[in-house]
Amino acid sequence: MGYEINQVIESAIAGKNAKDIIEKVIDDVKARNKGEEEFHQTVEEVLRSLEPVLVKHPEYIKESILNRIVEPERQVMFRVPWVDDNGDVQVNRGFRVQFNSAIGPYKGGLRFHPSVNLSIIKFLGFEQIFKNSLTSLPIGGGKGGSDFDPKGKSDREIMRFCQSFMTELYRHIGQDVDVPAGDIGVGAREIGYLFGQYKRIRNAYEGGVLTGKGLTYGGSLARKEATGFGLIYFTNEMLNYHKHSFEGKRVVVSGSGNVAIYAAEKATSFGATVIAMCDSAGYIVDENGVDLELVKQIKEVERKRIKEYVARKEGAQYFEGQKGIWSVKCDVALPCATQNDISIEEAKLLVENGVIAVGEGANMPCTNEAVDYFLEKGILVAPAKAANAGGVATSALEMSQNSMRLSWTFEEVEEKLKGIMVNIFAISKDAAEEYGNEGNYVVGANIAGFLKVADAMMSQGII
Ligand code: GLU
Repeated sequence: MGYEINQVIESAIAGKNAKDIIEKVIDDVKARNKGEEEFHQTVEEVLRSLEPVLVKHPEYIKESILNRIVEPERQVMFRVPWVDDNGDVQVNRGFRVQFNSAIGPYKGGLRFHPSVNLSIIKFLGFEQIFKNSLTSLPIGGGKGGSDFDPKGKSDREIMRFCQSFMTELYRHIGQDVDVPAGDIGVGAREIGYLFGQYKRIRNAYEGGVLTGKGLTYGGSLARKEATGFGLIYFTNEMLNYHKHSFEGKRVVVSGSGNVAIYAAEKATSFGATVIAMCDSAGYIVDENGVDLELVKQIKEVERKRIKEYVARKEGAQYFEGQKGIWSVKCDVALPCATQNDISIEEAKLLVENGVIAVGEGANMPCTNEAVDYFLEKGILVAPAKAANAGGVATSALEMSQNSMRLSWTFEEVEEKLKGIMVNIFAISKDAAEEYGNEGNYVVGANIAGFLKVADAMMSQGII
């Protein structure tokens, strides 16, 4: 009885204080991590959505869960020297941020892109905590990468870079410690070189240390397709719940990497027409529906610019500049390129042109302002942490297969992936309802992802 009264009093205090406490944590994060804009952006987005949780669970305030969750458990930055094809020495910077291991080994991709810095890796690592929690699989949150630019590099240069990168990274990872995978600029080729070097240094075949591996040495079927397919499964659940479907819809997909390509493929199989896709230089519009086999040939096989498409496909058009893609009229927008692809200007354009739903395939592809605008206008938003979790979920399935030393069929993996995405929608929807934000899957996903991690942290003491 005394305990219950205490709870009521604490809840009342928390109700008054939750907002202030959240703003204080955000201010501290900004002060202690100066200039890390992308990291500030995700912290603001997640923390502000947790107000009703703190009101209901004052114990999280007492145990300083928020202050602890915004501080990475460990961050590593290292020199990556390598020799280019001219014999010149190049130096890049490597990163691995091990953000949270409350529910499993750190898990998250590696990004190789010239824009990579600590802020970007920390934003990605922070998002990964909640995304991985939503999958219902036992994986913590981490992320890494380098400011290395794979574009225009020879195969041998890529190999030498990956070997140098792993020569430092290997001491920080392990199949029960931290399991990297791909992200922008890191695909099967890079994972192969990284795995080879790890195996050589460790003198052990630890299959589960990396995911996204090739199929001949422990990779999982359907991993390559998983993020894109998962995005469509999630978005389809959301559309169906609101009495819509992909059938007959005009869809615009930004990007042309594996998230974009396989999202476009699955959306097409659900009866949609993908009108436009892009890369960082420009976008193509094909009113007959984008020929995805041609895109795969250009991007995956030839590693060329998407501009090539129009030379090989009659009636298609090419426009310079990537953001212009959001001026193409569509019913469903699937940003699958990179962060902050849709800011308020693009959001307004999309709404003006009648968009009904936005499914985030990339990490944080919409600015916080853009998301707020969509929600205010009644547009359905499938948030990245939930909607793009299919990739990392299938990575966890790859880890399971590696541990069991067996492989599931494509159909088996896809069925599991589908079940996971359907479940993520259900728990995000339920959390949104329970915490007074019905229909707001952005808030719902944040809350559902947070609760599991917070409870695990509560159980494990102040660490
Ligand atoms: N980079 C992907 C993501 O953003 C996948 C990570 C993984 O498979 O570990 O979730």
